[in-house]
Amino acid sequence: MKVEHIGLAVKDLKESGSLFSKLFGQESYKVEEVESEGVSTSFFKCGDTKIELLEATNKESPIAKFIEKRGEGIHHIAFEVEDIHSEIKRLSDEGFTILNPEPKKGADNKMVCFLHPKTTNSVLIELCQEIKQKDQ
Ligand code: ZN
Repeated sequence: MKVEHIGLAVKDLKESGSLFSKLFGQESYKVEEVESEGVSTSFFKCGDTKIELLEATNKESPIAKFIEKRGEGIHHIAFEVEDIHSEIKRLSDEGFTILNPEPKKGADNKMVCFLHPKTTNSVLIELCQEIKQKDQ
């Protein structure tokens, strides 16, 4: 449907948070920890899309590993989908490797799943679907 957000891996959420506050001329609208992923996140609105800052909360976190290997920077691009289950099915039929075929609860009230970067030109792609009342 659209680029829902772009995820940036950062070492220090506070420091980067104030940097992006200055850049956008507005404060983060949401700070949220996603325990299952070992990350703290901070979201900024940017027109129709968002920027998600991600800081690792432990050494095993995918963000800690990413920064260790590649340094800070763009971590993933998230696309909003209407029906995450049917998109997962469509994309795996097309040969993409889905990292978590069963969507999980991500930050910002979304069901999310990730595609393996090996099958997507080294770009980590997230699919996300807004959680509606009835799904909860
Ligand atoms: Zn994300």
